[in-house]
Parts: sequence; C-alpha cells; structure tokens
Amino acid sequence: MKKHNFSAGPCILPQEVLKKASEAILNFNDDDLSLIEISHRSESFVNVIEKARSLALELLGLENKGYKALFLQGGASLEFLMVAYNLLNKKAAYLNTGTWADKAIKEAKAFGELVEVGSSKDKKYSYIPKGYTIPEDVDYFHCTSNNTVAGTQIKEFPESNVPLVCDMSSDIFSRQLDFEKFDLIYAGAQKNMGPAGATLVIIKEDILGKVERQIPSMLNYQIHIDKDSMFNTPSVFAVYVSMLTLEWLKDLGGIKFIEEVNNKKAALLYAEIDRNPLFKGITAKEDRSTMNATFTLTDESLSETFDTLWKAAGINGLNGHRSVGGYRASMYNALPLYSVQVLVDVMQELERIKK
Ligand SMILES: *Cc1c(COP(=O)(O)O)cnc(C)c1O
Repeated sequence: MKKHNFSAGPCILPQEVLKKASEAILNFNDDDLSLIEISHRSESFVNVIEKARSLALELLGLENKGYKALFLQGGASLEFLMVAYNLLNKKAAYLNTGTWADKAIKEAKAFGELVEVGSSKDKKYSYIPKGYTIPEDVDYFHCTSNNTVAGTQIKEFPESNVPLVCDMSSDIFSRQLDFEKFDLIYAGAQKNMGPAGATLVIIKEDILGKVERQIPSMLNYQIHIDKDSMFNTPSVFAVYVSMLTLEWLKDLGGIKFIEEVNNKKAALLYAEIDRNPLFKGITAKEDRSTMNATFTLTDESLSETFDTLWKAAGINGLNGHRSVGGYRASMYNALPLYSVQVLVDVMQELERIKK
C-alpha cells in the first residue's frame, strides 16, 4: 500500500499523475516512443509545454493580463540570483522570514543595495514580521509566501507601489490569492506541482528591460520569454508531470477546491497539536502554514515510541528539518485528508500509551 507521504520536498504527487507519467515513459501518446526520447521541438512535446504554461496562468487567473509563464531549470535557488540579475538596478527590499529568504538575500547582495525590511531570524523564524515599511525607491520587494522549513506562511501581503516578487515554491496552487498583485512569482516544481528539475516562473513582462547590466542569455527572462520557454532543452519529464498535475488540479475544481481541502487538513492537524498535551506547535498561531506544520513532543523521552508508531502506521517523511528539529508534516495538494487523520490517530495512540 502507498505510504502516507508527508515529505517536505520532493513531495507527494497524485497517484493518477504518477501512473500516467510512468506510461508516458514507455509509450507517449501511442507514438511507440518514450516521452524522454523524443525531440523537445516535436509537436508532441511543444503541445505539452504550451499546455503546462497556459494551465499555470489559467489556474492563477492570470491569462491575458500581461503575464508569461516559463518552465526553467536550476530550481528556486537559481531564481534567487536571476531575480536580482534581471530586476535589481540599485536597491531592493527583502523580507527575511526563513532559511530560503535568507539565501535569496545572500544571492541578491552581489547586485546592489539590499534593505531587509523585516526579519524573524531573532526567534528562529517562528513568526512572520508585520508592520514593516517598504521604501518607495526600491526596484522591487521580495518575500517568501510559505516558509517550508520553519512552517510559517504569509497570510496578508503588503500594499506597495513597487514590483512584488514572491518565492511561492511551497504553496503555489494551494490557496487563492490576488495573484495580480504579484509581478514575478517563482516556484521549484517539486513541492506542489511535479518532480524536481523544473522551476515555474510567472512574470509580468513590463517589469523587464529596466536594468543596464549585460545579462547572460541563460539567466535572461526576456530571452526565455522570446523563445517560448525553449531557449535550450527544457526539463521535459518534469514539465510533463507538472502539466499532468495542473490538469489534475483543474479537473478537481482548481485552487478554490484544493484550498478548502488544504484548510481542512491543516485544521485537523493543528487542532490535535493544540489539544494533545504531548505535542506543541513551534510557530506563532496566526502565522501557521497550511502546507508545513512544525511541532515537537513536550516530553522528548517519548520520541522513540512516537517514531515507532508513525512508521508502523505507514507514515513517511515526518522528521523536522535538521535546523529546526522536532517534526514537520507537509500537507501539499496531493496529500489526502485521510493521511492526516492517520497521523492524528497515531498522536492519540501515543497519548493512550502514556496513560
Ligand atoms: C525548497 C525551496 C527552495 C529551494 O528550491 P530548489 O528548487 O531546491 O532550489 C526555495 N524556496 C522555498 C520556499 C523552498 O521551499
């Protein structure tokens, strides 16, 4: 039986997507060829990447609004650098909400002056800073919508006149937002969309062309846009699986539908964390992530028993990030509510054993 996969990334994908992907490896489109042995410029694959790009915009409600969707490589980590390369002239503002935000800041520093408008590093990123001001004279403001490692999530994005850039790697397509507020969104595929190897970048095209530096072709968003995301060979398998996942999501009812499921899963788990005296949450309640719930045991001596119980229940990937410790339950789009119930049952079982 398939495990209850709470892995933080690469993460769970819909079972039907995995099945279709495995079929395409052997025989794609009944062409008697594998998806991964045909030309990326063949009609069959061009249709795939075009479908994936348009589905991404459609699901976010960004069609015909001046946005372009790209499937690039290098992960979200390369975007830390590409964003600055393409947009940072003199000065940019960053919100430091976690390990990934911190890395984005480190990369961008090479390109200009950075203003850290807020940081929660003082409390191990266990909350989202609020009430900060974004200077008017910056080229853009960068934030991380969901902090995968710490388990916090921005619930309200700031109002500002400067371009808004967001790393949505771990909660893209998980909740409804006013996506038109954003000028550039990027996300590594492997958290909520597909396998590792592709990065989705959504750009409002009119923010480009404002820096003076020479941008290497592979790092130049405009070149990728002009070449329809085919400047070089795209990561064909990752793009295909992403397309299948986006189709799966659309058929289910899109982001509106999945947001309700995600809210139910998070509510179920956090209610147990708060009720059960053996557990406690790590992050500020109002900033809790619906995607990654982080928690610890109140009595560390129970860890061996708890670990044995959840492993026996078929649960995978519950260990916290090495920098945080404790546990982290990642509840991405494809994780069924039932899997969260299994985890909650195990937490209650531990309570019974303890008594
Ligand atoms: C995982 C993650 C990254 C890094 O993604 P890579 O694709 O491994 O480069 C960046 N930002 C966030 C929010 C993440 O969760």
